[in-house]
Amino acid sequence: MSSLDLNKVRTGEVNPDIISTISHELRTPLSIIREFISLVYDEVPGPINDRQRVCLESALRNCDRQATLINNILDASKSDFNRLPYNRRRTNIKLLIDEIVGDYSLKFEKKSQLLSLEYEESLPDVLCAPDQITQVLLNLLSNARRYTPEGGRITIKAHSNQEYVTVHVIDEGIGIGQDQLSRIYEIFVRINSTQANATRGSGLGLAISKDLIEQNGGEIHVKSKPGEGSDFYVTIPVYNKRVQYEAALLDHARPIIASGKPLSLVLVRFRMSENIRSRDREVKLRELSEGIKETLQNNIISSTDRVLSTDTEDIIAIVLETDRAGSKAAADRLIRALCDKYDYISRFASSQHSYTSNTCTWPELKRLIRAAERKLKSKDKAFMEVHNGRQQDSIS
Ligand code: ADP
Repeated sequence: MSSLDLNKVRTGEVNPDIISTISHELRTPLSIIREFISLVYDEVPGPINDRQRVCLESALRNCDRQATLINNILDASKSDFNRLPYNRRRTNIKLLIDEIVGDYSLKFEKKSQLLSLEYEESLPDVLCAPDQITQVLLNLLSNARRYTPEGGRITIKAHSNQEYVTVHVIDEGIGIGQDQLSRIYEIFVRINSTQANATRGSGLGLAISKDLIEQNGGEIHVKSKPGEGSDFYVTIPVYNKRVQYEAALLDHARPIIASGKPLSLVLVRFRMSENIRSRDREVKLRELSEGIKETLQNNIISSTDRVLSTDTEDIIAIVLETDRAGSKAAADRLIRALCDKYDYISRFASSQHSYTSNTCTWPELKRLIRAAERKLKSKDKAFMEVHNGRQQDSIS
């Protein structure tokens, strides 16, 4: 059984503040203990013999191990902290991998392991929190190094398709049995084999990596065979308008959902009068988007309501902290106010989709967006027409 479950942190059953307080309390004395051991080890107070040296080395190693464990627990509580902003940004993944490899290559040399890189020349930029992706890749590399014997080869491969860049960390190490594969992402789970037990570890690295990669809109997978090696690979979304929209929606929705309140997504598609020239359309759309923000502020439902740009220029998304009925009423009010205000709106369609759960992941948010888009598509066929600010049904 795991004693710390990321889901429990997420849903508030385990209070992350307690975790971070305890972790900090543990870290401070530990670093003092380490400092004194290291003073003795460096023979500052006086000479030590070889047997004492071995004992001190073991003490130092275990201090470091404990520090890693504490940091991992802190990361686990922070990684999905609903209030923390994610510093997602457009990232050159090739540079990021080069940096990691540069910092890490000495460790491979120590074990006479060969680290090789194979990536597509023109990898697209990704949208991610670079620190978090670095942490995931470092975890995978550290595992590959620890579970691969001296002289083995480790390969990093990266390739892309339209949606994702995929990064593989492939080793020729001990591998993992099929029956164990589904358990390796559980917190504090270490696979029970003599070889794995011979290496130090906490069973936290993969649980944290999975959480971090999913919070960045990607996935983690593994293919492995005992005695042949493992291929751990992660996907990271390619930077584009769609992914930015999903990330913005996720960041906005997470605290609402975590506080147990209902969340609704309203999509509105506007059509403008034929007599608006195409070069004016973009300006008008921007004006409309600003108009919605202003109208929302005037008809404020909750201070957390927000207007987002989608990847389709004439669709505007509105996130409301309300349930289905509330979002319908709010959308009607909003559209009426907008049609009165902007006489160039000739037709519109809108759809609402509500979400009630107290956890929220990127894939769930994707489903919410898709459901709202499907509804909008079906309603698009039956636009509402606007005549002098008044609405009439119309089938197109
Ligand atoms: P640990 O700190 O124990 O390595 P992880 O969460 O990183 O914790 O990994 C969980 C378990 O998965 C490990 O104990 C190990 O048995 C197995 N594992 C992870 N990576 C590899 C790998 N590259 N090769 C073989 N086994 C691995």
